[in-house]
Amino acid sequence: MNAEIIAVGSELLLGQIVNTNARFLSQQLAGLGINVYFHTVVGDNPDRLKSAIELAENRAEVIIFTGGLGPTKDDLTKETIARHLGKELVIDETALASIELFFKRTNRVMTENNRKQALILAGSHILPNNHGMAPGMVLDSGSHTYMLLPGPPKEMEPMFLQFGVQALSKVNKSNEKIVSRVLRFFGIGEAALETEVIDLIDAQSNPTIAPLAGDGEVTLRLTANHVDENTAQSMLDELEKTINQRVGAFLYGYDDTSLLKEVMKNLKERKLTITAAESLTGGLFQQELTSISGASSVFFGGVVCYSNVVKQQILQVQEETLNTYGAVSEQCACELAENASKLFNTDIGISFTGVAGPEELECKPVGTVFIGIAVKGRPTTVEKITLGGTREANRNRAVKFGCYFLLR
Ligand code: ATP
Ligand code: MG
Repeated sequence: MNAEIIAVGSELLLGQIVNTNARFLSQQLAGLGINVYFHTVVGDNPDRLKSAIELAENRAEVIIFTGGLGPTKDDLTKETIARHLGKELVIDETALASIELFFKRTNRVMTENNRKQALILAGSHILPNNHGMAPGMVLDSGSHTYMLLPGPPKEMEPMFLQFGVQALSKVNKSNEKIVSRVLRFFGIGEAALETEVIDLIDAQSNPTIAPLAGDGEVTLRLTANHVDENTAQSMLDELEKTINQRVGAFLYGYDDTSLLKEVMKNLKERKLTITAAESLTGGLFQQELTSISGASSVFFGGVVCYSNVVKQQILQVQEETLNTYGAVSEQCACELAENASKLFNTDIGISFTGVAGPEELECKPVGTVFIGIAVKGRPTTVEKITLGGTREANRNRAVKFGCYFLLR
């Protein structure tokens, strides 16, 4: 089955808002094993919307619209589809009652054009809106399925997850169950990973493999279809095993985990505590760590040691180290990690020192980073990495590398 997403709204074409609805829906549809070949964006204009619908009908079985379901004059998605399909728009009493209730609850006066939001395409199936007023709807014409969703993401996303997914699985007439699994990799580039598994990608049919890169990470989404869900899971196990034999060293987790969540899980399981001495990252590691609830059981505090004075006075880095090797050095990273862990009496100390950019430092090029990891009872390790991004990207990437080294 394949789908096309039509985002309706002139503000999208004017560049005032970004089409995040298409991104969300595409990700969801990929997970359901539904192929998306086209995204269309069209303004609030009935003629152009009609031609977009005709084009989509020629190349997709499912057409998903977002936007233009509201009460105002420029909201004309329903009206245009109704006219195109020769369908009536009828008042849906349940939708009308819930709109009336919405106004009562929020102590507002309902105007006549709000009734427009209770109009639905005759013969369609309603997707309730629990976060706003305009209901979504699904209409099956025999040859095509039309799904209409509201524009605001905070209404559209929960509606799709709660009701849209189920509606689509009914449309998907085969009895097949679709299961998917996301493998998350770090420390290997997208091109390198793809090269390792390109033969599998080229030969894919069921299961399918979809690579995605972003934020220094690469993911592979594996999706299998089978009437028996357990069989579909075994098909994924089998494929994962083959992938692991080749690039398993870079696999750090599954589905919606993150490097930081894995670090936290790991520390908790092993009952270890951690502190950080952050120069390059200015506290970013600690900020991200503490954004995860439950951080207090593994983290008590740390130091932002941006200047050499703080490195020396608070973290006892030797003057000789700074004079001989500089702050951006293996030696400094080592002392920072060890002394921080002593200062806070933790099992692990991690340090970040480097050149974020845009200017070089101590004659060391932008992107030079040293990450020290001191673990009680073990020799301290320092990793040198070279990053090639902007200042912000280098700092973010350094935190991710730090987590990655902690997981090894
Ligand atoms: P409303 O009842 O709020 O008018 P609607 O279904 O008529 O909803 P639109 O009027 O087209 O939707 O858009 C309302 C708002 O939803 C936009 O101002 C924008 O903030 C957001 N929005 C619309 N389309 C998208 C999109 N494709 N991606 C992200 N946000 C969107
Ligand atoms: Mg609107």
